[in-house]
Amino acid sequence: MSGAQLGPGERREALQRMKDEVFDIVVIGGGVTGAGAALDAASRGLTVALVEARDWAAGTSSRSSKLIHGGLRYLEQLNFSLVREALRERGLLLTTLCPHLVKPVPFIYPLTHRVWERFYVGTGVLLYDRMGGARALPGAKHLTRRKVLELFPSLKPDTLIGGIQYHDAQVDDARHTMMVARTAAHYGAVLATSTRAVGLLREGERVAGVRARDLEGDGQDIDVRGRMVVNATGVWTDEVQEFAGRGRVHVRASKGIHLVVPRDRIHADSGLILRTEKSVLFVIPWGRHWILGTTDTDWDLDLAHPAANQKDIDYLLEHVNAVLTTPLSREDVEGVYAGLRPLLSGESESTSKLSREHAVSPAISGMVTVAGGKYTTYRVMAEDAVDAAARGLDRAVPASATAHTPLIGADGYGVAWNRRHRIAEERGLHVVRVEHLLNRYGTGMFEVLDLAEGRPELLRPLAHADDYLAVEVLYAASHEGALHLDDVLTRRTRISIETFDRGADSAEHVANLMSEVLGWDDETCKREVEHYQSRVAAERESQLQHDDVTADAARLGAPDVRMGAVSASA
Ligand SMILES: Cc1cc2nc3c(=O)[nH]c(=O)nc-3n(C[C@H](O)[C@H](O)[C@H](O)COP(=O)(O)OP(=O)(O)OC[C@H]3O[C@@H](n4cnc5c(N)ncnc54)[C@H](O)[C@@H]3O)c2cc1C
Repeated sequence: MSGAQLGPGERREALQRMKDEVFDIVVIGGGVTGAGAALDAASRGLTVALVEARDWAAGTSSRSSKLIHGGLRYLEQLNFSLVREALRERGLLLTTLCPHLVKPVPFIYPLTHRVWERFYVGTGVLLYDRMGGARALPGAKHLTRRKVLELFPSLKPDTLIGGIQYHDAQVDDARHTMMVARTAAHYGAVLATSTRAVGLLREGERVAGVRARDLEGDGQDIDVRGRMVVNATGVWTDEVQEFAGRGRVHVRASKGIHLVVPRDRIHADSGLILRTEKSVLFVIPWGRHWILGTTDTDWDLDLAHPAANQKDIDYLLEHVNAVLTTPLSREDVEGVYAGLRPLLSGESESTSKLSREHAVSPAISGMVTVAGGKYTTYRVMAEDAVDAAARGLDRAVPASATAHTPLIGADGYGVAWNRRHRIAEERGLHVVRVEHLLNRYGTGMFEVLDLAEGRPELLRPLAHADDYLAVEVLYAASHEGALHLDDVLTRRTRISIETFDRGADSAEHVANLMSEVLGWDDETCKREVEHYQSRVAAERESQLQHDDVTADAARLGAPDVRMGAVSASA
């Protein structure tokens, strides 16, 4: 799938094409919604360009709870259509679009009151299961107290009288978004990261494209001409609408944080969902770790660098410790990450909302804005946005094809999984490594392994992050669009949240590997490592503060590797 390669050469070529061609659609934003819109447009046969200011999923799309779910919470609010839509998407993702990336995950809902709660929650979960449609996941089960404690020995016995187990799904959000982008490239989309929209082009009243700044080389501006522009910039929606001077969709940022702790700190074979005063709290299995989350507080600082504070961390620890036999302490926390929910607010209420969760607005001539929603329903948001943009093109446009367009790596995945022991033997790897690679690349795994042909050292684990192989770093730079150390440590791999050193100790090894593909000299390698380590230090510092402060590494004097990236508020 060479068309799906996103190396530095492809980026240069994409920028040249952006200068030379006129596209049907120009998308701003490379989160899951923008990448989804690029794939939707390309797979309908439209020409499409996409500019992303930083990296694939660098905004909210790498910072979610990583659940592909309908949301039991919405069911309780009787929002059936939203739950049904999300569960339909969950089924599609699990079975057709990317079974290599989206995996089932079991949850226990502990019951604390006898009859009414079992009846109430049991009915809800049964309905949830039914709405999920064809059996992509095992059905829910009522559990006795003994069975709950067998599945989740770390639960305090006196906090429950029984439980219900149900299944949802999970995904590595950052990898999934990047795979959506690569699939769009495979179908002809022209994509560039580190390319920030700094203004809109005009033909009279109408928006006619995007002025974009290349944040790598010399900061050159490029005029990307398009018949329609799609603004898919999440919490930056208002900022981009302001380029046009007006807009109808308004987005408010709400911060949610997560903690990552090693798997051995909680003894359990299942995830857990707990009710809190305001919402719910999840304990989610994540490889050799657990993810705990989340919180919900307003954020009005730098949109590019949301950060957790001490209060956020204490809130999560306090709630989860209320039910654990052995409490977690701050010393158990390996990783912390914060994200901003793009919530619709104010006037958006009156725009053409297609569901309670997302809005698509064609209010600006030549530009469609799409915002809100959740990760699980990105494909529907993308389809709605491209449908709206298609109405601005002077020709018939085919209907969306993404419900039956698998992402790269999905084709042949089932067979490769069945053959994983044979593949391990043939390639001289442990089967655990093959499973890890299949779940990250699908059948793209063979392309990754081919890079290590004749170089056995590339099949060795990374320094201080032995879940990952050295060759994966090379592949991230040559095929997956990683341009900076942060891209690899934070999004292509999740080393930044999966190790107590937060990736600082792996930084040099990873930078050296990346330099092979990106041609970095010693000075650049050093700058990348310094920048990464300053970012980690800034985040650690923010986590000691009682209230919100920004973790913008630049404020601690770190050189910024992607100059001027994203926000005017940065
Ligand atoms: C704490 C938390 C937990 C969540 N958990 C879940 C969950 O478990 N399941 C679920 O379904 N959903 C979840 N969500 C919601 C989900 O993560 C978001 O709805 C989704 O990721 C939003 O994607 P997006 O593409 O719209 O925005 P983003 O991912 O933020 O993408 C916008 C992109 O636009 C780029 N950009 C901004 N300005 C410019 C510019 N001028 N030029 C070029 N590019 C620009 C940014 O760099 C960014 O990459 C969660 C959200 C949070 C915060």
